Amino acid sequence: MDSTSRPANGAKVYEMLWDCKFCGTRKLLGKTHRFCPNCGAQQDPTARYFPADNEKVAVQDHVYVGADRICSACNSLSSAKAEFCGNCGKPLSGAAQAQQGASRTGDEDEQFAESDKVYQKPKPSTAAAAPPKQGFGLKPLLILAVVIAVIGGGIFALTRSQTSSAYVTGFRWERSLNVERFQAVPGKTDCNAVPIGAYSVNQQYEQVGSRQVPDGETCERVQIDQGDGTFREEERCQTTYRSEPVYGYVCYYLFNTWVFARAEKLEGTKEQAPTWPSLGSSGSCFTLGCEREGSRNERYYLALRYGDRDFECPVEYALWEETGLERSFTVEVGSVLKDVRCGTLKPSG
Ligand SMILES: [Zn+2]
Ligand SMILES: [Zn+2]
Repeated sequence: MDSTSRPANGAKVYEMLWDCKFCGTRKLLGKTHRFCPNCGAQQDPTARYFPADNEKVAVQDHVYVGADRICSACNSLSSAKAEFCGNCGKPLSGAAQAQQGASRTGDEDEQFAESDKVYQKPKPSTAAAAPPKQGFGLKPLLILAVVIAVIGGGIFALTRSQTSSAYVTGFRWERSLNVERFQAVPGKTDCNAVPIGAYSVNQQYEQVGSRQVPDGETCERVQIDQGDGTFREEERCQTTYRSEPVYGYVCYYLFNTWVFARAEKLEGTKEQAPTWPSLGSSGSCFTLGCEREGSRNERYYLALRYGDRDFECPVEYALWEETGLERSFTVEVGSVLKDVRCGTLKPSG
């Protein structure tokens, strides 16, 4: 499902709530009640929380100027546009901002309950607080180093080899010929692109693909604390899509062409001179079922022995041709797996 976001629509602004920790009065309004109406205590911006849906208090014609500022001298809350603290008169430039941006999201028809406090007051650091762990990350690094060492060591061990000497015990050649047959091959294409020479063309109307069509939208409700005692509520929607088949004309046809049919293979030792497999009828034939020669492949092998072990290596024809029985070679053999590396085979002396 592909989806696109569109801008928030109809954001509304409501009061955050706070509880007075001095007299216990609950559900005071974040914007209206800068001081507790019961005991006069100053609002603590870190005590703000989102109300339940049935207790939301709208803020009419709210002009948002930014998160509140907190006076560094007396901790009083001021509007972001105030230049001086309303309580002690200290300039507010550089003053800390109340926290903002906390949010919660729910389905369109979900009922929100009252939230917990959305911010935690930073705890003053004390000697009793656990010191930051110094060695964090060291242990994983150590494990990683061990793993790398083990893998590296394994690769090193598997790559190590030693030079062994071997001698020739026999010869083998292999020659193969790919045989092609003239055949009717079925095809399917856009009707504008039927190849020349095609026949039995059959036009069909059928599904040729699919397209995504918009099919409603899914929405969610988001509340975002603005840091000035209010929060805004938005609806965020995404278009959903469904897949719809697309129909069109397609052409089916037959086309005569040469197709790989099989490989003919011959092999022998040095007693028989290498020869190519042959096709009885090599004339130029162009009816269905005719066969012709395709590509050719040839390989030449030396049979060798080192110690009590026999193996075979492919070599160039010239080397195969000039080499006699019992001629000595050197070859690298893996130290661990005892694998013969034919790429390193060299005549010795
Ligand atoms: Zn109070
Ligand atoms: Zn102040």
